Amino acid sequence: MLGEHELIARIRRRAGSPPAWVTLGIGDDAAVIEPERSARIVLTTDSLVEQIHFTRQLTSWRAIGHKALAVNLSDLAAMGAAPRASLLSLALPTDVALADFDELVEGFVTLAGQAGAPLVGGNLTRSPGPVVIDVTAVGSARPRRLLTRSGGRPGDELFVTGQLGAAAAGLALLRAGAARAALDADASACVCRFERPDARVRCGVTVARRRAASAAIDVSDGLADAVHQLAIASKTGAVVDASDVPVHPGAAGWAANAKQDPLALALSGGEDYELLFAVSRRHRRNFFSAIRQSGDLTATRVGRLQAEPGAWLNRDGRLEPLGPGFVHF
Ligand SMILES: [Mg+2]
Repeated sequence: MLGEHELIARIRRRAGSPPAWVTLGIGDDAAVIEPERSARIVLTTDSLVEQIHFTRQLTSWRAIGHKALAVNLSDLAAMGAAPRASLLSLALPTDVALADFDELVEGFVTLAGQAGAPLVGGNLTRSPGPVVIDVTAVGSARPRRLLTRSGGRPGDELFVTGQLGAAAAGLALLRAGAARAALDADASACVCRFERPDARVRCGVTVARRRAASAAIDVSDGLADAVHQLAIASKTGAVVDASDVPVHPGAAGWAANAKQDPLALALSGGEDYELLFAVSRRHRRNFFSAIRQSGDLTATRVGRLQAEPGAWLNRDGRLEPLGPGFVHF
């Protein structure tokens, strides 16, 4: 492995020239970016730790680089913030090959370019143990266009983008040693979702700009956790209608094979990085216009917020407590 300065030079070469709002990018003591006029700066950070969030055996270095940024972009999307810049700090053990380092950077920088979140700086250090990838994403949003978790009101309907359970099914397939070439299209899509999640940036920004939702959160730890967090922040209760939860067909297929409940994958599987919105009746049409503007993406009504406290799952008219999402600790 090369020294720190050589590695930074490699990242800088790969990152290319940044957009005009980056006054000073990689290479000085700190980066300088220009804020959007009359916008608020939105900041988020998240880290991926080897053996906790990924293993080298199951996921390619390029996918790891992509995912490290995507999970942060998902948090910006949930705030309705447009990406503006990103920072990457790596703690690397000495057994990481230069080619693998290059792949990780490639995965990160490619997504950064696509998302308009140029890599403007970071840090490199040796790690005595696992690979640690620490990412900060900077976003931009108009003050009255920000989405938060806390704006939900009783009577708002809950909508989730895309389909759920795919990432959990993809991880289960990889863990079971599934041969990728032998997977059908739905199962392949699950593996792809686990490895290279798509942050719903355009959707979050469009919904926020149209003020079409009263609250939002990204679904990083399963739908159940997202509903709990949104309801708690909004000081409401919530009901999820079990039969309306959009389960990814690959997740349904995996669950049928494994004799598992497909709904459990969607509710607590995690890592799908879809968005959950609370939408008032008044804004329902506005919300669907925003979804149509968000490209090839669907949104499904999965429940509602209510005044009565607690989070509930409605199975064929019978209410049961909505279980927790994926538990990290
Ligand atoms: Mg989040």
